[in-house]
Amino acid sequence: MQRLALGLSLLLICGAVSAEQIKPAVKAKTKPAPAATGAAKKTAAKPAAKGPPAQMLFGAVTAPAPLAARAIGSYARGCLAGGISLPINGPDWQVMRLSRNRNWGTPQLLDYLERLASDARALDGWPGLLVGDMAQPRGGPMITGHSSHQIGLDADVWLTPMPNHILTSQEREDLSATSMLKDPFTVDPAKWTPLHTKLIKRAASYPQVSRIFVHPAIKKALCQQAGKDRAWLGKVRPWWGHYYHFHIRLKCPPEMTGCENQKPPSGDDGCGTELANWFTMMRKAEIAAARPAVPGAKPALKKPPLSLGDLPQECMTILNSGGGGPVIAPDGTVPAALKAVAGKDAGPPEPHLDPEALAALRAQMSSSKSKSGSKAAPTAAASAAAAESTVSPDSTQSIPAAQAAPASPSVPMPDRKPQ
Ligand SMILES: [Zn+2]
Repeated sequence: MQRLALGLSLLLICGAVSAEQIKPAVKAKTKPAPAATGAAKKTAAKPAAKGPPAQMLFGAVTAPAPLAARAIGSYARGCLAGGISLPINGPDWQVMRLSRNRNWGTPQLLDYLERLASDARALDGWPGLLVGDMAQPRGGPMITGHSSHQIGLDADVWLTPMPNHILTSQEREDLSATSMLKDPFTVDPAKWTPLHTKLIKRAASYPQVSRIFVHPAIKKALCQQAGKDRAWLGKVRPWWGHYYHFHIRLKCPPEMTGCENQKPPSGDDGCGTELANWFTMMRKAEIAAARPAVPGAKPALKKPPLSLGDLPQECMTILNSGGGGPVIAPDGTVPAALKAVAGKDAGPPEPHLDPEALAALRAQMSSSKSKSGSKAAPTAAASAAAAESTVSPDSTQSIPAAQAAPASPSVPMPDRKPQ
């Protein structure tokens, strides 16, 4: 009821203002080269001009589309109609980084967060949620930080407990989330507490949850601390970057046509081979990250940003309806201030191994290459890895569908963009 009233008042507020009309990106048809020679392939693969990136358009929108609430498309390729904003203060939560204007979602996401905040406090003793990025007012791709969060069904929650006072706007900008990691492979027992395990378990326990993403080291801690009740662990998926926050993804609400669900997780608790594969991948990534850049080497190929034409057609309607449309220059640029605000990170940078530990890891990796069952190097990182198998990771199994492309068993550096 409350949500309906909110939606109606938004209609009244936004309905009268006209938006700048966004033209569809003209999708030039790229004909495949008839002869598949290397050179011909290169020419054909050249991306056609597609108009401004969709992240610029959606990132510049300041108000929701005054339509019935609906998640349109998929988590990493879609948009949001009738988004509503999570109040910045609730009895058991506070929204962080208000300047980003990313506390929007479907009514289902808001209901879920409010319920989780209340249950976690009442039943588990978690003091309250600090809520990070949800979606932009009309969803869609973002200028910084996420490849998903596009349809109002994703939310990041900090692993920092809510302080016992109402934070000022400035504190919400400046406060940094706490990293749970001691090193790239291990949670810090001084930071990670049984309450954190309870919170993630609680978050995963509701039927409307599709997945929870956490850093692989956190998944490992959860596997160790779960006890006998392990059914919820299958929904908790390892992913890069989630060491100071966790990411909640809800299933498409059944009544929302045009919302594309992700394939459900296998049901396995994910604590065996899958997690071991993640650790193998992380070790390779750690070594690759420390490698000095080769002068003159070509930078890794980046996926071109999504254009409006890459999103479901309805997303153009979403962008154009009601007020609060994109403030965007005719050349497709967005105001610098907006970019700067969106670029602020919520947490500390990811930890890396010190030179000694890195050398030990290198030695361990090369020795396990030449013979199986090598001895673990005497470092925290290496000992964490010691018990794990070296089976090639099937990374596409464990990552969100739209993110599945970057990693393959032989690629040590998958797309590490936070979700
Ligand atoms: Zn996220």
